[in-house]
Amino acid sequence: MNPESIAFAREPFGTPRGGGPGGGGVTVQWLGTAGFAITHGDHTVLIDPYVTRASLAACASGPLVSDIAAVYKYAPRADAIVVGHTHFDHVLDVPAIARHSGATVFGSRSASALCRTAGLPAAQVRDVESAFGGEPVTAEVGPFTLRFHRNAHSRMLLGRVPAPGDITDCDEVPLGIGSYRCGTVFGVEIHVAGRTLFHLGSAEILDASVRVANLDLALVCVAGWTSSHAFPERVMRALSPRAILLSHWDNFFAPLDQAARAFPRMQMPRLVDRLVKSSRDATVGTVRMLESVVI
Ligand SMILES: [Zn+2]
Repeated sequence: MNPESIAFAREPFGTPRGGGPGGGGVTVQWLGTAGFAITHGDHTVLIDPYVTRASLAACASGPLVSDIAAVYKYAPRADAIVVGHTHFDHVLDVPAIARHSGATVFGSRSASALCRTAGLPAAQVRDVESAFGGEPVTAEVGPFTLRFHRNAHSRMLLGRVPAPGDITDCDEVPLGIGSYRCGTVFGVEIHVAGRTLFHLGSAEILDASVRVANLDLALVCVAGWTSSHAFPERVMRALSPRAILLSHWDNFFAPLDQAARAFPRMQMPRLVDRLVKSSRDATVGTVRMLESVVI
């Protein structure tokens, strides 16, 4: 399908609101896959940034390395990098981006193991899983407050989670894609400048435990949604967002400088239909590759 047939209704986001702490708007840029750069003032938080976009042949043939030119071009700065889970299309570039930006990485034990093996100093890596005692872990980054809700991954591979388990004891990088094990999955609640966002990097939600109030924008993964029973209805019940920006519907074997193309098998129009039907008045849509919305 043509993703542009699902237009993001920009009207509610077109004019930055000035009322929040610090004033000004919050810019949300889509980096392809489940990747986003969220900026307010001079602070940027990246979530699941995957900018290398290795070809299918490269993915199949062996260990992957970050495309450093793409890292500098598409992720020039970051104060924090959030890892929702440690599949390669979420975490591959995190060590390289952290190294050049000095950003702190927040993620699972699996993400921490990878970053340490990649040579990041311990002070630059925050394991939000080991500190987990039932309540979501909270972290402050400049004007941002991040809350890490334990979540689940879509069982999108013949009823199973692809590459389950943790990245542990990887004595060396680079790794092949199968070694990027999923690790613990987090949904991330983000508060900044009076706005609330929630990032769902895989199309599953533990709706019995995840509840977010007054949500302005949900960043929702499309890939695998048909494998998660009643996914759109459960997302709307748990999050009730004012708007949903769909992500991870693009062909991520193509580079970021090409227009995003959807995989038809993801059935995005059907997902949009069900999200709209189960909401009262939420805006649901997409943006073009590397495009931003301001909330
Ligand atoms: Zn995944």
